[in-house]
Amino acid sequence: MTVADMSAGKARYTHAEEVAIMAAHSRGEVPRCPRCNVAMTTRSLGGGSFGLGYARQREWLLCPKCKRSVLFDGRRGTRN
Ligand SMILES: [Zn+2]
Repeated sequence: MTVADMSAGKARYTHAEEVAIMAAHSRGEVPRCPRCNVAMTTRSLGGGSFGLGYARQREWLLCPKCKRSVLFDGRRGTRN
């Protein structure tokens, strides 16, 4: 994330909002945009091979209204 990205019109959630969205998703709920209060679209971005334990599964949560999105590693319990 650079200053150039910030000024390119890409609105982003705050870190606290991203955490709340991920928490809802990890509970098996459909996350809602904290700004628009609409259900967010979930898309799974598969890594390379499905069925392999170490394949990185990424989740992309997108608000259909404000177009903000959160991309994160779908595995739980990792911290980086
Ligand atoms: Zn929104």
